[in-house]
Amino acid sequence: MSRDRLTCKRCGRCCISSSPTLHKKDLTLVKKRQIDTSFLYTIRKGEYVWDNIEQRLRKVPEEMIKVREKGEKGGCIFYDPVNRACTIYPYRPAQCVALFCQDNSEFFRLYRTPKLSRRDVLKDPSLLRLLEEQERRCSYEELEKWIRKIEAEGEKAVEKVIGLLRYDHKLRFLVVERLKLDPADLDFLLGRPMTETIRFYGLKVIEEDGIYLLTTIEASTHRGISLNAQHSEK
Ligand code: SF4
Ligand code: SF4
Repeated sequence: MSRDRLTCKRCGRCCISSSPTLHKKDLTLVKKRQIDTSFLYTIRKGEYVWDNIEQRLRKVPEEMIKVREKGEKGGCIFYDPVNRACTIYPYRPAQCVALFCQDNSEFFRLYRTPKLSRRDVLKDPSLLRLLEEQERRCSYEELEKWIRKIEAEGEKAVEKVIGLLRYDHKLRFLVVERLKLDPADLDFLLGRPMTETIRFYGLKVIEEDGIYLLTTIEASTHRGISLNAQHSEK
């Protein structure tokens, strides 16, 4: 450990503000279950995320795996605020080892190295086929394409969007029901539900008696991209 790193005050600000993204060098932590997949979630290719480094919302070109965050306020799930300590300190991801608020050089060096993906972790051919099928049937590229068409094509585009949300929802149900996978692993295996991530497009879904209603989030509470989507319901 360098002298600079010894000056970390353990204030926890970096753990409270965000959670780490895993890199390929973190693979062993996941394989040995030092970090269980139920504590992780996947940001799929084409999703929008708030980038703390660039301080802007950006679309991810390739998928990323992150440690879960605590509720709405964010912050790493492994942070213990009472003791101001990392509860997995010996097994904390490479980004946490590299991060030091007074000197970002080590963090940025790591940031440019390849990120971990689900295909690095999963070896079961049936699960790999499942990921391919998910991408083929309900990709974020397709979702965004139809959301952008809502203003011009109205109901037809809304139905396409709802069809994608339904497929994503059904896939999650089938994975638990037929493959007997732990529901806690779903956000790692399939990414976050599209019914949640659609908020990045300024939209939200209300389910009533099995019917999905697609509506807009109030501009004042929306922190996402602007697609000029009008209020739309099915
Ligand atoms: S790296 Fe900086 S922000 Fe993080 S715990 Fe240490 S002093 Fe606090
Ligand atoms: S894994 Fe530990 S060091 Fe890393 S952000 Fe979470 S609490 Fe902080």
